[in-house]
Amino acid sequence: MRRIAAHYIFPISSPPIRNGIITLDDSGMVLNLSAPSEELRESEGVEFYSGALAPGFVNAHCHLELSHLKGAIPQHTGLAGFIASLAAHRAAFSDEQARRAADLADAQLYASGTVAIGDISNSEVTFEVKSGSPVFYHTFIERFGLRREDVAPNVCMAQKLAAAAATLGLTASVTPHAPYSTLPEMYEALAQGGIWSIHNQESDDENLLFEKGEGALHELFLSMGLTPLPPTGKPSIYHTLRHAAEGQRLLLVHNTYTSATDYDAAAARCKNISWTLCPASNLYIEHALPPLRMLRAKGANIALGTDSLASNASLNLLEELKLLAKCFSDIPLSEMLRWATLGGATALGREHILGSFEKGKRPGVTLLSNLDLDKLKLTPETKSRLLTRKIPTFADNFE
Ligand SMILES: [Zn+2]
Repeated sequence: MRRIAAHYIFPISSPPIRNGIITLDDSGMVLNLSAPSEELRESEGVEFYSGALAPGFVNAHCHLELSHLKGAIPQHTGLAGFIASLAAHRAAFSDEQARRAADLADAQLYASGTVAIGDISNSEVTFEVKSGSPVFYHTFIERFGLRREDVAPNVCMAQKLAAAAATLGLTASVTPHAPYSTLPEMYEALAQGGIWSIHNQESDDENLLFEKGEGALHELFLSMGLTPLPPTGKPSIYHTLRHAAEGQRLLLVHNTYTSATDYDAAAARCKNISWTLCPASNLYIEHALPPLRMLRAKGANIALGTDSLASNASLNLLEELKLLAKCFSDIPLSEMLRWATLGGATALGREHILGSFEKGKRPGVTLLSNLDLDKLKLTPETKSRLLTRKIPTFADNFE
């Protein structure tokens, strides 16, 4: 048994506790939360930390396999410029370079307080890193294609990758990449009942392509010798919604150019959507921020992701929280922490184990130090580190 105390505890499922103590069993399972009336100090049987305790972070959108591209792609190119640059840089590195960078990123993520990740894979290059990691990974096997002849080979590759993931004990599901990159036939062929993680409305050019058949993405596809999907007169999200079943568990990622009308249409069509935001990546690529206030007002399940090191300086959600705290200073830290923990756990279908300090869960304990404890705000100096965690076992993945 372990008793850990700090100036504040953020249980997430209930209000913050001042001078709280959390009690865990040897497996990391939460047994109890308490707030003693006397001043806390280090005493026998209690570890005391200066700062706040939160459940382990859940990064709902990451591409570990792009970790070697840190700093390689210029900022503010827009989505079309980013895609073109990514394709050119990816080919310049070996699988071994990608694997080594992924291994390092995984170790840093765990040490800084991340316990679970929704991670996109286009290949199996990171599978061994993920299967050997103490972090829980849900691997999204991502496929895309704009040519009819791409469909059968993509389905075949998705099956091959899913089998490789299963062999290594990784939880995985097959997902289309984005509406602008995926033929309707491909959506249908990839529908296998697992969670989808779809890049959605990351750029205004994505909406323009579907609404009017023009814009930078349209031009990019023509320059690559590809036929862009025909315009439908509606924003890109409707392309996804047409192919998602009502019960489809769906992470819509980015949503930088999603309107309230788009949100309502999505919520009416699909009952299990997590709106996954990657603000630092949006600033890097598009120099824009997602419609956070609209999503809050709608009561959306908000999750946070970092995207990859190709469009972000860090994979630690603490940096996303610092950015959001700077841009939306009126939003309480407790609410933002919910997005970084329970929001992501819900998105990945792991809310019964992770994301909050509730009895019976094993969410990990992340220490946030160098906070402004009077105002309960993050500061530029705030750091995060994992204090403890019981890793969900292979059997947990199939509960
Ligand atoms: Zn992404």
